[in-house]
Amino acid sequence: MLNFPKNTLEFIKKHLLRQQREVEKNLKEVSEDDPAMSPALAESSEPGTDSYIADSHAKTVVLEHQLKNAKTSITAALSKIRKGNYGKCEKCSQAIEIGRLLAMPTAQYCVSCSQKKTSKR
Ligand SMILES: [Zn+2]
Repeated sequence: MLNFPKNTLEFIKKHLLRQQREVEKNLKEVSEDDPAMSPALAESSEPGTDSYIADSHAKTVVLEHQLKNAKTSITAALSKIRKGNYGKCEKCSQAIEIGRLLAMPTAQYCVSCSQKKTSKR
């Protein structure tokens, strides 16, 4: 169990739960906004409509992908809080800096590991 101030953990948990609700709401809106999913628009044969649909469908797919990724990391962070191993770097098992977690509650790696990770690319 990591040495976490209880208030900080509660704060992060609330923040994550709020983010989770937000992401789920956005995911729903995104799929409703996708013109490729709307029969009325998809059947329209106006010139240029096809590319509009394709273009905006592509954007939707990207956005949906990002939202799903966000959802996955939020869920993972929340389950770590439940298990009591939240805030541990998944690479070196050191505690992740609290400031970093507050800025990015879904962080999986400590600052130095995430820097190593990005510099390798
Ligand atoms: Zn680390």
